[in-house]
Amino acid sequence: MKVSVGIDIGGTNTVWGLINEQGQVQVEGSINTREYSKPSDFVAKLALDIKNALLDSTFELVGIGVGAPNGNYFKGTIEYAPNLVWEGIIPLQKMFQAHFNLPIWVTNDANAAAIGEMLFGVAKGMKDFIVVTLGTGLGSGFVVNGEVIYGHDGFAGELGHTIVERNGRTCGCSRKGCLETYASATGIVRTAKERLENYQGKSLLQEQAKISSKIIADCANQGDALALEIFDYTGEQLGFSLANTVAISSPEAIILFGGLANAGALIVDPTQHYMEHYMLNLFQNKVKLLISTVPQHQAAILGAGALAWKNVNGAL
Ligand SMILES: [Zn+2]
Repeated sequence: MKVSVGIDIGGTNTVWGLINEQGQVQVEGSINTREYSKPSDFVAKLALDIKNALLDSTFELVGIGVGAPNGNYFKGTIEYAPNLVWEGIIPLQKMFQAHFNLPIWVTNDANAAAIGEMLFGVAKGMKDFIVVTLGTGLGSGFVVNGEVIYGHDGFAGELGHTIVERNGRTCGCSRKGCLETYASATGIVRTAKERLENYQGKSLLQEQAKISSKIIADCANQGDALALEIFDYTGEQLGFSLANTVAISSPEAIILFGGLANAGALIVDPTQHYMEHYMLNLFQNKVKLLISTVPQHQAAILGAGALAWKNVNGAL
């Protein structure tokens, strides 16, 4: 059976899997990213685990796809990733090539997620769409004419760091008012904490020891007015940004994925409402807002594996 390797490098854990052409995970494994202070040791251990998985099988490897924070598709590098222990520029592709005589591609995790949706998810058959991952931060992958947009330097599609509020909330990128400080699993928690400080009414959120996006969703599902207002505000920030984004690439659909997207209609409905409200009339009522159908626990390795399959098979 032909398989690609999909590797997703995260700040804490790295997961990998052998993915067949239909997007089924055949074997999977993980290692602790933080245990390896040297990236070359990390790659050596990962290569060893993958080779062990291949020992007793009829798998035929076609290529390796890697999704990583600040992964650069053109250079095969990770560059200045804030969440990783390795500093500076890591020549990841070269390091893997020391262990595998196979083509290897690197990109950022959101771009990998976009390719995963295109091959194995809700964007099957679409040529123009955007994937927005609403996790700790907000990542995005733009697909235009069937290809991921990488831009001149390989870093295109940073919707999370477009500014929605001048002089707004401080962002991890050191600027202020980026979309991800409002529309992400951590952004919605910031909104909740801000609102709770001055809230005069009664809310279920006041009784919570710890606020998370899941808890805000639970309270909203019980009809809590403040929790619903927090989702409305989050949807307004996201919908406003998406309306502007639609004017640039004219997507058929925008696909939401990740922790905050699990809130379903609670986040989709206000986002759709405000997106249409702020949208240029040319585009109104044309853009589908969807939730990803790729299984969440495997999405990262499926996306990375899809990156390899897409390159092996060429244009779709
Ligand atoms: Zn930012």
